[in-house]
Amino acid sequence: MRAPALVGVLLLLLPAAATGRSAAGPVVVLDPGHDLRANPATEPIGPGSSTRKIKDGGGTRGVVSGLTEATLNLRVALRLRPLLERAGLRVVMTRTRTAGTSMGNVARARIANRAGAALFLRIHADGSTDRSVRGTHTLYPALRRGWTDDVYAESRRAARLVQRELVRALGFPDRGLRERSDFTGFNWADVPAILVEMGFMTNPTDDRLLATSAYQRRAALGLCRGALRFLGRSPIACR
Ligand SMILES: [Zn+2]
Repeated sequence: MRAPALVGVLLLLLPAAATGRSAAGPVVVLDPGHDLRANPATEPIGPGSSTRKIKDGGGTRGVVSGLTEATLNLRVALRLRPLLERAGLRVVMTRTRTAGTSMGNVARARIANRAGAALFLRIHADGSTDRSVRGTHTLYPALRRGWTDDVYAESRRAARLVQRELVRALGFPDRGLRERSDFTGFNWADVPAILVEMGFMTNPTDDRLLATSAYQRRAALGLCRGALRFLGRSPIACR
């Protein structure tokens, strides 16, 4: 009788002890943009809105690498997750595979809201019809009463800190910050939310570099350092 009870206690203790993770750490929700397939269904761009937008146009693709944006976004997110966990944070992913129809942006925001995320970090790469356009930028929700007023200031602060660290880590041109009022995933978020555009997959230089594991690690490190700074922790913990 005694032995099984002891085994049960040990099993309960083991996961936390083995990973050194605190169950009470803040939650970062990582949202690797897109999925295997686009989602042409529509959804309201904000709570109660009659304006609807497509759930997911599908993202861009590497002009040299041939990599889909969905794949790149996930690779960076999967490198970032253990960095954040080792730094004592809890991580929730909106997806861990590139295997289905994209869930849409209301669903992504709801995952972040339900998790009570300290930061909803959306990972993307950009595309342009102009192949010469390159560099890193970060988007955050524009101020709109009833939708984003509760998360506007903190999202902007997160965007500034993460953009700075991401540019430093990648060494790409700094395209700065941009407010967006038309992003469904921002308007539904009840937690601080940002969306990084790591680089342009339609630019041969950005694409070639982002397709390498070395630059995917650089991106993950930059995102980790920015997230930790936002959460008031030392970025040195990102290793
Ligand atoms: Zn995207």
